[in-house]
Amino acid sequence: METASSERLAKAKEIASNPGEYQVCEGCESIVGLATAVCPNCHSYRFDGSSARVVDQALLLGSREKRSVTAEDLA
Ligand SMILES: [Zn+2]
Repeated sequence: METASSERLAKAKEIASNPGEYQVCEGCESIVGLATAVCPNCHSYRFDGSSARVVDQALLLGSREKRSVTAEDLA
C-alpha cells in the first residue's frame, strides 16, 4: 500500500530545491507558486516569498501530514 507521505516528501524536496519558484501563504502557510495572487485555500493575498521561509515550510510539510501542498495547482 502506497503512503501519501512519500509523495508529499518528494514534493517538499522539489519545492525546497527551487524555493525561488514558490511563496508561503501568510494566512494558512500553504506553499503556492510565485504567480499565485490569491491563496486557493484561505483566499489570503499576503505571501512570504523569502527562500528561507519557503524551504522551512517545505520541509515542515514533508515531515508532517497536517497541511496540504498546493503547488501542483500551478503545474
Ligand atoms: Zn492561505
